[in-house]
Amino acid sequence: MMKLSNITKVYGKGALEVPVLHGIDLTIEDGEFVAIMGPSGSGKSTLMNIIGFLDYPSSGTYELNGEQIASAKESILAKLRNEHVGFVFQQFFMFPRDNTIKNVASPLVYAGVSKGERTSRAKDLLVKVGLGDRMKHLPNQLSGGQKQRVAIARALVNNPTILLADEPTGALDSNTSEQIMKLFTQLNDEGKTVIIVTHEEEIAAYAKRIITIKDGRITDDRRVTS
Ligand code: ADP
Ligand code: MG
Repeated sequence: MMKLSNITKVYGKGALEVPVLHGIDLTIEDGEFVAIMGPSGSGKSTLMNIIGFLDYPSSGTYELNGEQIASAKESILAKLRNEHVGFVFQQFFMFPRDNTIKNVASPLVYAGVSKGERTSRAKDLLVKVGLGDRMKHLPNQLSGGQKQRVAIARALVNNPTILLADEPTGALDSNTSEQIMKLFTQLNDEGKTVIIVTHEEEIAAYAKRIITIKDGRITDDRRVTS
């Protein structure tokens, strides 16, 4: 469970200060499937980065599983990131010279996992995301949807409890987007907490809870009844 209380974020200093988040209160339970919606520039990515320990708030408190995150030290954030979250982005961010197995396994290199174990875990995840027949392909030999599946497999490789995706379908056509959203639904059904950012209603509709943010404030938070 994550609990954000009165979170603010201000970028820059002095005359260049840009206040972006203004007192966000948000609790997300394990196993939820949440979509965060809102116009461009409203602070969605900033909020996601704080939720996923890529960045720290300017003020406010963040509790994860009942424990308050004590400090904004990068080493602490990195540890929380590695232990709890997998990130997916609109732009895929793949290593162009590495095949799909190596791309999926890349986070494990830094974690010191042996090569055999890395390959075996990457293969299992590629099968899981429907790319069992694309193990040796390079990124430029894959479609956008396939690249995003690789990115999702990579986000799962540390076995995180929370999957965060910032505009994961932003670069995909609507059919492919639907397939990717079905994959997130499946992962949520299997127990992952899934949080996505999108500005498309049809994409948000896959989630079970939709949060709207405007100018750095939550303006709506509703459960989807299906
Ligand atoms: P969204 O994802 O909803 O489009 P962002 O969280 O990316 O919004 O950005 C919110 C606001 O914060 C924007 O005005 C943006 O220009 C500003 N911003 C984002 N990142 C930075 C940064 N690193 N430094 C300064 N301003 C930033
Ligand atoms: Mg954004």
